[in-house]
Formats: sequence, structure tokens, C-alpha cells
Amino acid sequence: MSKSQPIFIYGITIKDDRGKLKNCQLCGVKFTMSVKEHQCKRCKRAVCDKCAPNKAIVQKADGVSKKAHRLCNFCKDESDSLKRFLEQYKISFNKDSFSQQWLQSFGTDITKAKNDFFNALDDAKLCKDTNAYDIFKAKLEVVINDIDGFVNYSIKEFIVNALKNVEPQRQKEVVKTSILKVAGTLLLLYPQIGYSHEIVLITYFLLCFASEASAYILLTAIYAHILPSQLYPKSNTKYDLVNEYAIVVGVLKDALQVDLNDMTVIKSFLQQKLKNYLLTLGINLFLFETTFFIISSVLTSGSNGYMDLMAQMAILCSLSNQELQKNKFNHEETELFMLRQLRTNQLSVLQKQIQNCDFESYKKVYITSRSDSIQVDNLILSTRQSMIKPDIQKVSEINQKLQDQVDRRDQEMKKLNYEIIQLKDKIKQLQKENSALLNQQQNNDAELYKVKLHELRIDNSVLKSQIEKLNNEISKYKLQIEEDSKSKVTKPKTETIDSDYENDLEEISQFKLKYEQQIRNLKKQAEEKKQQNQPNQIQIDEMKENYENKIKLLQKQIFQLQQQNNNTDEVRDLKIQNQQLSMKLEKMKDEKNKSELIQQKNDEIDLLTELNEELTKENQRLSKQCRDLKSQSGASSAQQIKVLEEENKLLESKIEQYNQIIKELATNIEKVKVEKQKQLEFSDLKIKQKDDLEDVKQVAEIRTVQNQILKGLLKENQTQLSELIIAITQMRQILEKSKLLKL
Ligand SMILES: [Zn+2]
Ligand SMILES: [Zn+2]
Repeated sequence: MSKSQPIFIYGITIKDDRGKLKNCQLCGVKFTMSVKEHQCKRCKRAVCDKCAPNKAIVQKADGVSKKAHRLCNFCKDESDSLKRFLEQYKISFNKDSFSQQWLQSFGTDITKAKNDFFNALDDAKLCKDTNAYDIFKAKLEVVINDIDGFVNYSIKEFIVNALKNVEPQRQKEVVKTSILKVAGTLLLLYPQIGYSHEIVLITYFLLCFASEASAYILLTAIYAHILPSQLYPKSNTKYDLVNEYAIVVGVLKDALQVDLNDMTVIKSFLQQKLKNYLLTLGINLFLFETTFFIISSVLTSGSNGYMDLMAQMAILCSLSNQELQKNKFNHEETELFMLRQLRTNQLSVLQKQIQNCDFESYKKVYITSRSDSIQVDNLILSTRQSMIKPDIQKVSEINQKLQDQVDRRDQEMKKLNYEIIQLKDKIKQLQKENSALLNQQQNNDAELYKVKLHELRIDNSVLKSQIEKLNNEISKYKLQIEEDSKSKVTKPKTETIDSDYENDLEEISQFKLKYEQQIRNLKKQAEEKKQQNQPNQIQIDEMKENYENKIKLLQKQIFQLQQQNNNTDEVRDLKIQNQQLSMKLEKMKDEKNKSELIQQKNDEIDLLTELNEELTKENQRLSKQCRDLKSQSGASSAQQIKVLEEENKLLESKIEQYNQIIKELATNIEKVKVEKQKQLEFSDLKIKQKDDLEDVKQVAEIRTVQNQILKGLLKENQTQLSELIIAITQMRQILEKSKLLKL
């Protein structure tokens, strides 16, 4: 097997976006002159100062980095939690840690696994096909040598840390030997599976949580119980995954309530990526913790592992849906997002949502579509080993037990729900009755009042007519009295009339009293009725409250029942998380202070180092030049330099001399100037003596002659001076050159 053959385990390309993005990929702040762009050397995100204040040693393709590199906050946190995880669960290569609970879900344990592996190794020895084994060995050699080149940064960091207990120079050999034993035995005993790089990767990952024996049993379980034979590397049939797409989409729709409008993009993503995801069990597609979450969930699901794997994919799609829709059909971008961004806490939230979903129906669809292949495989496997057969029985027993528990809980829930519904109905009914009664009461009262009012009205009108009649009679009597008084009628007659009238009045007032009494009675009756009604209302209220309390109690019970299953785990997880968080917070506070100081110091040192480097470089360059010059000309140049130095001295003394001359000349000129001044003063005086013309003429003559002489002298001096200046500059140039040469 040549090294040039391409090694390919499905992985995600991490683009280098440095300088291409306008905003920080973590906090979104815009890069400006003051907000500098950095690159996280682990995830390659473009990040701002604030989002990447730390530097750390980073895992590179060729091992650990020598220098500390910038690390974004997301990576820092993820890397720290990865290391804590390794420490907390004492994860180490070829050592049983999580394997115990995974083996349990396949109805076996570490002791049994050891025994089975021992037998399998024996069986494998009997296999005649050493050719296939040799090929596998050669391929494995290449894959393990290059493994750092194709696993993602998080998985790489995990693997490196899991191997910490093995000496660095022995690591590759140790890994190769173990994988060869585990995967090699499987491939020899079950040639129908066939070799693929993914098997190496899966085995490698399992060996980080399991001894060779446990890893072997788990690997066998993955190919016998989880992955369908159509996905075996050797399978020649083209498997279209139609059922798988349907299940993932179904879970997305039903349990995760993803918008139906989003399905087009999601389906396209699944069509491109689901197969790779299934083949690798998600290893190398996500951050370590996410991968572990998926694998652990799949392996603890026993023979439901394949269903769980698809449900996990649905969760991952649901979590990335926004990104999926944003990237449309650029699925590589979404994959990159999934790798960099998805963390376990998000997954575990949706995991619960999925547990509430009834995907028994999907399972039925799926199992009918794959049951044949499973049976065939199991037959082949069981002819070689007894391990698989009793397992199935035990697994199905365990599953049955779990199913029974779930069923029982469901029934209890159903019963409680039913009771609640009944109680709610009862309350509704009672409320209805209550309002009906109230209505009736009101109606009744109104009816009664109406009748009474009507009666009273009638009585009233009768009274009114009677009063009118009486008034008429009164007025009649009054008239009569008036007439009588006019005609002087006898008194007795008036008396009888008066008494009649009084009697009538009495009767009327009695009537009035009677009716008033009646009205009072009626009012009283109404009041009593109302009061009679009141206790009724109280009773109803009490009943209502009673039922509401009962409902609350039942809801609480239901809630408790729901919680019971995951409560203990959750509380433990939360406690651990809490502890970890407070520790982290403490550390972060500490580290923040430290790192700020260190950053400052580092910056200073960087600056100084840079300066120093520059100076050293310059120095080196100069000394090199000097050395070069010296070596170029050797002894002769030394002589030359001597000559030049002598020449130089000579020139310097000459310059000195010239300078002296210049000085003398300058004093001469000064003297001449002074004399001239004196003469001028003198001549002025002479001019004033106008009376002696002769003298004046003589003086004038002398003056002209003197002037001419002085002018000549001055000219001579000036030319001498400029010549000297030229000579000096030439000297200086020569001096400069000789100095350079000396250097
Ligand atoms: Zn930022
Ligand atoms: Zn990063």
C-alpha cells in the first residue's frame, strides 16, 4: 500500500476567513482601526480583541504548537471543559470508563466482554485469510500515521489528551496495535462487513473509553445491531436511505415542530450529508462533547441505536435550522456551523422533547424495512460466536422491561389526565348549574314582582278612581254646603254628611295601610329569597375550590412522575455543572486579571523584542559588511587605509593652514575696512575746508589712488578666498570617502 493513495475520512473543511469578514464571528462587533481582527488558531474564527484575550498552546497537524497562539473564548471554554471531562471520568486510551454502561445496554458486561474477546482472538487465528489481514494492516499504518491531518481540532485535542499516559514516541504504535487487534479481529471474523477508514475511526474513538475487549464487543454491536448491513463498506447494493430521511423529517416535524416551509432545505441537506453522518456515527463532524453525547446516547439505546442516531440528526438539524435556511443549499457552510457551534447543553434540551415524541410508528416503518437483513446477519454472526444470540434475548428482555415501565407510566399518566378532564367537566357542569340557578332565581323574582306590581297598579288605579269619586263627592258636598249656607239649611244634615265623608276617608287610609303592609311583606319575601340563595353560592364556591385543589395536587403528582425518571440524573448533572461553572467563574476572574496584566507585559515585551531584533539585525548587517570589506581587500586595504589616513592627516593639517590663512585674510579685510572708514571720515573733514581747494584736490587724488589700490587688494583677497573654499570642500569630500572606506 503506497503512501500516495488518498486517505479520506469524512471531515469538515475549515475555511480561513481572516481579512474577509467585517464583523467578529463571536460577538458581531465591527472590525475597525481600534477594533482589531484576530484569528483563533484553533477554530479559525475571525474574532475581536475582547473575544480572544487568551493565548494557548494549540494542536496543529504536526503536533503541539511551539508558541502560544491566540484562542477565542468559545474554544477556550470548550477546550477547558474537554480537559475537565477527561479528568473527571479518568478517560484514558485502552481503559474501561464509559464502556461498562454501554455494554450493559447490549446485555453484557466487561467480564463477559473479556471472555468473548479472548475467544474471538482465538477464532481469528484460525482464519486462513491472512491476505485481507495484511492489507488491513497496511491501510491502518497509513491512516494512523496521518490521523492528525484529518480529525477536527476538538477531536484531535481529545485524542491527544486521552493518550497522555503513553510515551509520545510510542503512541502511534500503541494505537495501531490496539486498533489492529480490535477492528482486525472483527473484519477477519465477519468479512461481510469489509474495511473502511470509518471503522478505524470508530474503533479509535471507542478505545478512548474502553479496553480492547470492551471496544471489540461494542464495535461488533455497532455493526450487528445499530448500522444496517446495507451500510457495510462491503455492501454492493446501492442503499437509498429513503426510510432514514423519512424518519429524520418525521421527528423534525412531529417532535421538534420545525416549520414545514423549512423542510425543502433540510431535506436537501440530509440527502447530501446523512449517509456520511450515519457511517461515521457523527465522529469528526462535531466538537468532541457533541460527538460523545451522540455516541453515548446511541450506545445506551442498545438495539434502538440506529433510531436514536437518526433522532440525534433531527436534533442537530433543528438546532441549525436558522443557519440552514440562511445558507440555503450551501451545506458546507451549515456543516461548519454545526462543527463550531453546537454544544451538548443545547442537544440535551431537545433530547427530552424527542423522548416525549411517539416515534414507535417510525420504528415500525423502519424495522419492517430492515428486519430481513438483521436476521441474516445475526445468523452469520451466531454461527461464529455465541455472544450475539443470548444478547438479543437479554436485550429484548431489558427492552421489554423498559417498555413495560414506560407503558405503566403512560397508563398512569393517561389515567390521571382522564381524571383531570373529568374533574374539569364536573366543575364546568357545576358552574353551569350555578349560573342556571341564579338565572332562575332572578327570573322568578322578577316574575313575582311583576305580578305584584301589576296587582298593586290595579289596586292603585282602583284607589285613584275611588279617591276621584270621593273628591267629586266632596266637591259636590261643598257645593251643597255652600248652597245650604245660602239657603240656611239645618245643621244635622251637614253632620251626617260630614260623618259619611270621614268614614270614607278612614276606609281609604286603611286601604293605604293594607297595601303598604303588602308591599313591605313582598320586599321582605324577596330579601329572604335572596338570602336563601346565598348559601347555595358559598357551597358551589367551596366545591370549586376543592376540585381546583385536587387538580393542582394531581398536576403536581404528574409533574413529579415526569421528573422522577430524569430528576436524579439532572440534579447530578446540574450540580456538577454548577460546580464547574463556579469554578470556572473563579478561574476566569483570576485569569482575567492575570491575563490583562500579562497581555500588557507581553505587548511591551513584544515591542521591545521587535526593537531589539531590528537593532540586532542592523548591527549584524553592519558588522557583516565590515567583515566583508575587510576580507575582500585583506592586507592591501589595510595599507590603503594607512595611506588614506596619512593623506587624511595631511589634508586635515592643510585645512588647518587654510583656515589660518582665511582667518588672517579676514582680519586683513577688517583692517582695510577700518582704514577705509577712517579715510572716509577724513575726506569728509577735508571737504568741509572749502577755502583750501588745493588741499582738497590733493586729498581727492590721494583718495582715488588709495581707493584703486584697496579695490585691487579686495578683489585679490576675494578670489583667493573662493579658491580656498573650493579646495576645502574637495578636501572634505575626500575625507568623507576615506572614512567610509575605513568602515
Ligand atoms: Zn468579538
Ligand atoms: Zn476558536
